Parts: sequence; C-alpha cells; structure tokens
Amino acid sequence: MTAIDMSSALEPLVGKRTAAALESLDITTVGALVRHYPRRYVDRGKLTDIAGLEIGEQATLVAQVEKSVLRDMRSRRGKLLNVVIRDEKGATIDCTFFNGHKVQHIIKPGVRAVFSGKVGVFNQKLQLTHPQFEPLDEADEIRPFLSVYPATGKITSQQVARCVRQVLDLLDDPTDPLPELVRGREKLAELGRALRRIHVPESEADIHAARHRLVWDEAMGVQLALALRRHATAQRPAAACPPVPGGLLDAFDARLPFALTAGQHTVGSEIAADLAREHPMNRLVQGDVGAGKTVVALRAMLQVVDGGRQAVLLAPTEVLAAQHARSLRALLGPLGRAGELDAAEQATSITLLTGSLGAKARRQALLDAQSGAAGIVVGTHALIQDHVGFADLGLVVVDEQHRFGVEQRDALRSRGELAPHVLVMTATPIPRTVAMTVYGDLEVSALRELPRGRSPISTSVVPLADKPTWFDRVWRRVREEVAAGHQAYVVCPRVGGTDAEVELVDTEDPDIGADSDDGESKRPPLAVLEVAPKLADGALEGLRIGVLHGKLPPDEKDAVMRAFERGGLDVLVATTVIEVGVDVPNSTAMVILDADRFGLSQLHQLRGRVGRGSAPGVCLLVTDMPAGTTARERLDAVAGTTDGFELARLDLELRREGDVLGALQSGRRSGLRLLSLLRHEEIIAKAQVYATHIVADDPGLRRHSGLAALVGETVGDEERAAYLDKV
Ligand code: ADP
Ligand code: MG
Repeated sequence: MTAIDMSSALEPLVGKRTAAALESLDITTVGALVRHYPRRYVDRGKLTDIAGLEIGEQATLVAQVEKSVLRDMRSRRGKLLNVVIRDEKGATIDCTFFNGHKVQHIIKPGVRAVFSGKVGVFNQKLQLTHPQFEPLDEADEIRPFLSVYPATGKITSQQVARCVRQVLDLLDDPTDPLPELVRGREKLAELGRALRRIHVPESEADIHAARHRLVWDEAMGVQLALALRRHATAQRPAAACPPVPGGLLDAFDARLPFALTAGQHTVGSEIAADLAREHPMNRLVQGDVGAGKTVVALRAMLQVVDGGRQAVLLAPTEVLAAQHARSLRALLGPLGRAGELDAAEQATSITLLTGSLGAKARRQALLDAQSGAAGIVVGTHALIQDHVGFADLGLVVVDEQHRFGVEQRDALRSRGELAPHVLVMTATPIPRTVAMTVYGDLEVSALRELPRGRSPISTSVVPLADKPTWFDRVWRRVREEVAAGHQAYVVCPRVGGTDAEVELVDTEDPDIGADSDDGESKRPPLAVLEVAPKLADGALEGLRIGVLHGKLPPDEKDAVMRAFERGGLDVLVATTVIEVGVDVPNSTAMVILDADRFGLSQLHQLRGRVGRGSAPGVCLLVTDMPAGTTARERLDAVAGTTDGFELARLDLELRREGDVLGALQSGRRSGLRLLSLLRHEEIIAKAQVYATHIVADDPGLRRHSGLAALVGETVGDEERAAYLDKV
C-alpha cells in the first residue's frame, strides 16, 4: 500500500459504500476523518455490573444479547423489541427498544454491545428502556476505552471507529503545523500522537493530553486568521486626522454642560491617538447602557471633521438614526448648524439619511454627503448597501455592534483608496474570550463607570404562575409612576397583527424565543398589537398610550418616538425596537411581558432605558414560568445583578457556542470542534499572543505552511485566501 497523507481521498481506502456513508458527515479525506473526534468514551474500567444496578441510575454496561423478541405495540403503530442481556458475571436484565423493526437486525442473540441508559422498572422488574447501544467487535474487546463518535442514520459509531483505526494504521505522522517553540513552551503533544490518542486512548491522561493539544490547533487557527485580518487592515492607508487646536472639537468641549467621566477621557484619548495615525483605527468601545458612548463617538467625529473629512454614524434602526441625529444636534447646538443664521464660526452640519426620506429630501441628503456639505451623516446600515457617495469619508461609527457582523464591518473598510477609521460601539458587555475571537479584529476599550447622578434601577420578577394577583399591582405601579409625572414602557416579545402568525420577533435577534426548555407547547408570546388595546380599555384606561414596533411606517415610528420624548405619551407599548439607544430620561418604569422569552443581555439592555434621569427606575419582569424552572432562574439572575458583564457571561453559558463562533465562519461548517469560549480562556489568550508574533514576523505565513493550512481548516479556505493570497 502506498503511503497516505491528510489530503488522501477516503474512497480507495474504505470502499465506495462506506465512503458514501462518511460523506453524510461531510468527511471525504483522511484529514477530515482523523479530525472527526469521538464525542465521548466508554471507560471499561467504570462499567457497571447488572447485579448492582439501582432504579433511576444512569448505567453503562457491556453485555451479550441472549434473547430478542419483536412485539406489536399496543397503543401505537410500530414494534417493540424486547431483549434480555447478560453480563460477564451471569446477571441479566430486560431492555426494550421502541423502534424494534429497525434495530432487530443489529441486536441479535450473541451480539456483545455497550448499553447505556436509565434503569427503570416494568412489571416489577428492572429494565433499561430504549438504551443507547454500541455493538463491539473483537478489536474493541481488548481496549480500555471505547470511542463513541457522532454518527448519522447512515453510519454507526463503531463503523466510524473502524474506519478511523484503519486510516491511522496507514497514516504516517503528519508534519506538525505548530512551531516547535509553541509546542515546547506549552508542553503540547505532537499532532500525530495527539490524533492517535484522541481516537484510541489507553488512559484518561491520554484523552486529556490529546484534547489539550487539539484545542490548541483550533485556537491557533482562529487567532492566526484574526491576526492576519488585523495585519491586512493595519497595512491599509488611512487619512490621518490629528487633533486641531482651537477647532470644532475644542469648541465643543468648551460648551459641554458636564465633565467627562474618567473612562470617557481615557477612551477619548485612545481614539484621538488612533485617528492621528495613517492607518485605519479599528476600535470597539463597550460601555453599559447609559455609559455615555454617544459623546465619545461625537468627539471622535468632530476630530475627523476638524481634519477636513466627513464622519458617518450608523444606527441599527431608523428610529435610532433619527434619534441620534436629534441628540447630536442638541449636543452640538450652534456648532452643528452650519449654513444657518445662528451658526457658530467653526460649525459643521448634520444630515440624516434613512430609507424613509421622501425623494426630494433624500436627493438633498445624498447631495450633501457627496459635496461634503454634511460634516456628519447619520443613517441606518442600509446606507452602506446603497453606496452613498461621500466627498471624503474619514470615520465610520457603528452604534450597537451586536446587530452588525464581521462581513458588514468588512464592507465598510473596503471603500475607496483610503480606508476610513472605524469605531464600533456596543452596550452588550463582551466576555473576554468573545472579544478575543468574534471581535478579535478590533482593539477593545471599555467605559466602565456610569456618569454621576445616574439613578439606580430596581428589577423584580413578577411570577404570575405563583402570584396571579400581582398582575394588577404591576399596572397600579405604572399608574403611580405616571401620576408622579413620569413615563413607562411596556415591552412585548412580538408585534402581532393579522398576517403575523408565525413571526415571533420584531428583530432578527436570535436571543428571543430561542430556548423553550421549560414547558413544551407554549402559547404564542404576547404581542404589542393585542396588549396595547387591552391596556387602553382596562388596566391603564385614561392614560395616553402609544405603540411602537418595527412594522410601523418610518415616519409614524418617528412621530411616536418624538411624542414620547416630548412627554405627549404616558406609556409606550413596544417591541425590542426600544432596546438600544432610546434616551428618554423622564421614563422611570418598564414592564417586560413574557420576560422569559428574551435573552439575559437583552433584558439588561432593555432595562437600561429607565432610570436615565434623576428619578429611580423600576423594571418588572413578568413571566408565567413556574418557580424552579431554568427560565425563572435566569430572570432571577437578571433581577439579582446589575453587572452586565456577569449577565453576558451567563448568556454565553446558555447560548450554544456555535452561534457565537459561527459569526467567524460565514455559512460554512464549523472547523471548531473542541474549542470552548468558556473553558479555554487561557489558551485563547496565549494563542492570540503567539499568532500576533508569528504574523508580524511572517505576514504571508510563507515559512509556516502548516499554519496556513491550519487557518484554512479552522475558518475556511475563503477567509484564508482573503488574507494570505493578497500578501
Ligand atoms: P449610551 O452609552 O447608552 O449610548 P448615552 O451616550 O446615550 O449612553 O448617554 C446617556 C446620557 O448620559 C445622555 O443623556 C448623555 O448626554 C449623558 N451623559 C453622557 N456623558 C455624561 C457625563 N460625563 N456626565 C453626565 N452625563 C453624561
Ligand atoms: Mg447609545
């Protein structure tokens, strides 16, 4: 047999049929097969004896099938397979399989297998109901660990195991992509050895060592991809905009009605230094809701305008864009009214550009952007897709990053010859590992303190399952706030309305309605269009109630928002459109209905809308979920802490990591199998340092061809090509 390597095709090795079955797992090469790691192991030293089984126990045992009988099911279609199995000590137990006709040809008398499942009782005898099973072949019998693989309907775990062993026998140890320096310092096993050990371990220590090494491969793949990305953007030329003494920014600072917080100062000088360089800034500023990110962004924009260039501020929704434009105008006062009578000397002008402008206004706005008359353009993300022309775009500020992916960031960067500086702002605190991966192409700054004078928000869970009468108290509380001259939000997970049966959420936010681990068939979530009229005729009768959601025509949205800002409405019944950026200091109460349908960070974000003024805020999380459920625990966590970082970490634990890391890999199957954002923080951090050094030293990875291949395996060849082939 000729030697094979990682790129060899499997078919000549395992045969046509097996190769086709493996293809159902997306495995066509030797490399893909040996990177298809076992999901778990059965430790033969820890198997249970049948004689010692107890009711309720989760048991894993090796036994031989003694008898198997196929029976009709009484209540349903299909057949049951009743099986008696016997272990080496001679004890027996009954097993029942529901899909009898499917498994009877595998679970035949004489077959030895690993059975695992929960021990129950039937007809006063212990039994295993529908256990998982893995038939054993002779080779398995002598091994201390059995590897269990993710399988499909087309191929069993043991078939996969057999193919892997066959291939490993023929495969010479592959060249190790990790530099010796890294391997030596981190005491990592060699790749070939790690691959053999993860598939055919002799001990638990083998499994740990192998996994540890292979996690490193993934961490390095990701970090190299990001380092390449950072390197590529850092090479691009950008317009340097050093601060201009006596310019617009100085004039603005002089008329600011408050002192900047220490964080605003620090982050402000980081940004100022970035903008002064001849390569584009790529910075993420994270700061909890109310931390004062807008001022930070505006100061950056003014520095760029002082440099004779334009700045654009992108918001996720039209409501927000319009509101940003208004608050920038308010903050700038006469400094933002260039061309008007009362304008200050250095004044610039702010142009709002959204999809909903009338034809004429739109034409004017486009013209202002193109001619450079508009120093600052505020708009929605649609602005990018529409290829608005700018006279001289120097800075792009993206507000509320969590709705804005890597690809869109790239779209921004690839405008024109000079790359604009990019400043991304997010209120969702980002755990360290997420910052190092999903946002790994950005420098990160944080605004950690809130401006002084911020009022505390008290959050309570209103558990209707246990305390149905509390619902009335919720609305009484809202009335009290309104009677005291304040305003309130009522947030629902859904818009509702006629043709909206299947639509669950108002945004594309994956957080909402994601997990329904408690209760199988929930009623549809409460909807704005149903809740608002009910409140108007009932609990909140007589109050001025407005409705806001993503389906309203843009000018109506804007009108409602303005009315609420002016105090012309007492209560705003809304979807999560108010989640980000809405700033109405007079609103002091927020009622979130079906709160269990929202993500933790999202609830935190939502409640940040209240308590922005001098009066304390209250947030009521209303839920039907009974005590003791995970959903309730999560809400209790939100009520129990105002630490956004803690909630973001919890959110990460609850969310499938694939969703988070998936953002790195547009649309392709994940090359990440072992890497965990929760468990591998230190490895990720170290890999980032190594990757940065390696790329600085060898930007084309020419002396590191193994690493170049690793990048492809981890983030896809397209991404790899985007950064390597250009260099
Ligand atoms: P966010 O970070 O949530 O976007 P904003 O920028 O909307 O927060 O700021 C919230 C409010 O705090 C605004 O009304 C803003 O004018 C005000 N603010 C910002 N910085 C300060 C400061 N240093 N001192 C006092 N108030 C501030
Ligand atoms: Mg904001």
